[in-house]
Amino acid sequence: ERPAETKTKRVLLAAPRGYCAGVDRAVVAVEKALETYGTPVYVRKEIVHNKHVVETLRERGAIFVNETDEVPEGGRLVFSAHGVSPAVRASAEARSLETIDATCPLVTKVHKEAVRFAKDDYDILLIGHTGHEEVEGTAGEAPDHVQVVNSPDEVDQVVVRDPDKVVWISQTTLSVDETMETVRRLRDKFPSLQDPPSDDICYATQNRQVAVKKLAPECELVIVVGSANSSNSVRLVEVALQSGAAASYRVDRMTEIKEEWLEGVTTVGVTSGASVPEILVQDVITYLADHGFGTVDEVRTATEDLMFSLPRELRAGLKAAG
Ligand code: SF4
Repeated sequence: ERPAETKTKRVLLAAPRGYCAGVDRAVVAVEKALETYGTPVYVRKEIVHNKHVVETLRERGAIFVNETDEVPEGGRLVFSAHGVSPAVRASAEARSLETIDATCPLVTKVHKEAVRFAKDDYDILLIGHTGHEEVEGTAGEAPDHVQVVNSPDEVDQVVVRDPDKVVWISQTTLSVDETMETVRRLRDKFPSLQDPPSDDICYATQNRQVAVKKLAPECELVIVVGSANSSNSVRLVEVALQSGAAASYRVDRMTEIKEEWLEGVTTVGVTSGASVPEILVQDVITYLADHGFGTVDEVRTATEDLMFSLPRELRAGLKAAG
């Protein structure tokens, strides 16, 4: 074993990382809406959970609101990638808003599952985080049938009407391992528990976790770029720690890195959440290079080429605008 100071300091850069197809589509939708219709374009909630993205769009003229009643009658409103409940759609319609729905199609898929199982009168256990916008939207599809299960420990408190008619579904951006643990405990309690028809945790969330799992055992430190309210980014820190990284921190941007984190560190892992523009990651790489971590090796566990077409209302608008 060579002394630490003679070891090459290096960065392991996770791939895939950063933007997923749903985030890309949502951000482009707001940009195109601004270009096509001019200001004001209102956006309900953060279009995606990233500070830098929201600030950039705000500078370009997007107005972020919390609820539809903050938008003037007849105004133009974009729904965020996290999706909305039918109640929100109804209130937008009541105000005659021109809506553009940037809900990620993979979130819409989970909404449809909720609607279908509610129609068949199932008790629906939605594994996810209370208060997260996506969970509010999905639960809002069938408020009388859905209950949210936040963690494996909450399983003890779950009560259903008929244990033979129970299904679980989930938020798209959870830890795969923790979710499987919650499902395992639910199944112990309700042996007839039905699985959702397909994975609700999306491909992007899964791929970013697999990549960080691969590099974490070699890292004394893993830096995750992402905002505090970004579920999938926060999960990446947890996964890094559970997979063997000695330390892991989330930063919104390079300026939040503390020099002391690097003391005695030889290998730093770097990744980013699904809502994070690559420029923020490159800033981190530059910072690390300035601190002696000049070698960057990519650790790739998958290749992604999924793309979603723009929201239908926007495509129609673009066509009309020529
Ligand atoms: Fe869609 Fe997954 Fe991206 Fe969320 S993280 S926007 S569900 S692809």
